[in-house]
Amino acid sequence: MKVLLLGSGGREHALAASLAKSPLLTRLIAAPGNPGIARHAECMPVAVDDLDGIVRLATEQAVDLVVVGPEAPLVAGVVDRLAEAGIKAFGPSAAAARLEGSKAFTKELCEKHGIPTAAFRRCRSAEDARAAVKSFGAPVVVKADGLAAGKGVTVAETLEQAYAAVDAIFAGDGGEAVVEEFMAGEEASLFALVDGRTAVILGDAQDHKRAFDGDKGPNTGGMGAYSPAPVLSPALIDEAMESIVRPTVMAMAEDGAPFIGFLYAGLMIGPDGPRLVEYNVRFGDPEAEVVLPRLKDDLLELLLAAVEGRLKGVQPKFRRETALTVVMATRGYPGAYRTGSEIRGVEKAEARSGVTVFHAGTKQDGDRLLANGGRVLAVTALGADASEAQMNAYSAVDLIKWPEGFCRRDIGWRAAAASEE
Ligand code: ATP
Repeated sequence: MKVLLLGSGGREHALAASLAKSPLLTRLIAAPGNPGIARHAECMPVAVDDLDGIVRLATEQAVDLVVVGPEAPLVAGVVDRLAEAGIKAFGPSAAAARLEGSKAFTKELCEKHGIPTAAFRRCRSAEDARAAVKSFGAPVVVKADGLAAGKGVTVAETLEQAYAAVDAIFAGDGGEAVVEEFMAGEEASLFALVDGRTAVILGDAQDHKRAFDGDKGPNTGGMGAYSPAPVLSPALIDEAMESIVRPTVMAMAEDGAPFIGFLYAGLMIGPDGPRLVEYNVRFGDPEAEVVLPRLKDDLLELLLAAVEGRLKGVQPKFRRETALTVVMATRGYPGAYRTGSEIRGVEKAEARSGVTVFHAGTKQDGDRLLANGGRVLAVTALGADASEAQMNAYSAVDLIKWPEGFCRRDIGWRAAAASEE
């Protein structure tokens, strides 16, 4: 079967590597792809936000399935557009993608269906938001509504910080904020594969959002991750599926917006069990780079089952090893950085057993591999436990010669400490 994969990051490289292993696959096309994806797919220069171009490409190439990597085209309705053209796509419709696209939508759904999450208030004016901040008290969380690429959230330790965040949201015309109760606990990510009615567990992970060691510095798209997450026991995963994920999937189906795709639940594990922090309507990046290498089943068969509503009774299986990925980024990221520096040694790193170097932001220039983004590589290794996976990943990272790049040296510290106990 012919598959078109949309996206160009490390997540899509991990998806491409897993799809390429499927005996069902006859041809893999990626748009726009990247040099790592190009090892598994033919890359076509169509941008993920060019919905007309995507529909045209899928039609011209007569693909049997489109797999959507990033959230922006989902929220923009790429799956709906493909459906109108009679093309099957794996991913939620625009209506179902509101679970990520609108924090207010998700919070209201949780409230209506008794899904455990932080208490919240939806505020349409600065006065309203200030009053909400005051009534929750510090610490408190202030979020801009809509997709803000991780930049629209302030976890305020003082009321002053919270008021400043409110002012920033309502500085221009309009604006809408969600003010939330602060939840204490440890964060972890749970992934579900959903076919509109049935949700099955598709792994779990923890990531590191901050740029520097010790979980310090600015927030990023993610500097590393590992799977499984030691904090998520099988019992907690079942509890989260029953109390959070499955009621959400039922609610979406009942509201006429059935969810098909990867549903990524960001969880806070506190004293009262798991509570929902947020949903994402696609795989995580870099979480895909640690969850997918552990998947034993045929990914393409699973995605097809989801699109065709056949997930009932399916139980994806995973290798017992831990996978850990270290993101290598260009110096300056997440602030300003230069592109075009040369990276050497990727083949040496990949020659190590159990290691895959996923490309997130690279460009091929003849024989040379160049950095072409903030997050550039995700170096994944497997190990019997988190400390072994960590050691293997950093041994591979140390073979990559890239003076313009940096990475954290402590990815997986919490899990490695737990595995050494
Ligand atoms: P991203 O998709 O990058 O995670 P986002 O903009 O969708 O970011 P959220 O995930 O809702 O935002 O929040 C970002 C982070 O802020 C969370 O990962 C969590 O660490 C923290 N956070 C959000 N809400 C709460 C809360 N109610 N209590 C405690 N921490 C919170």
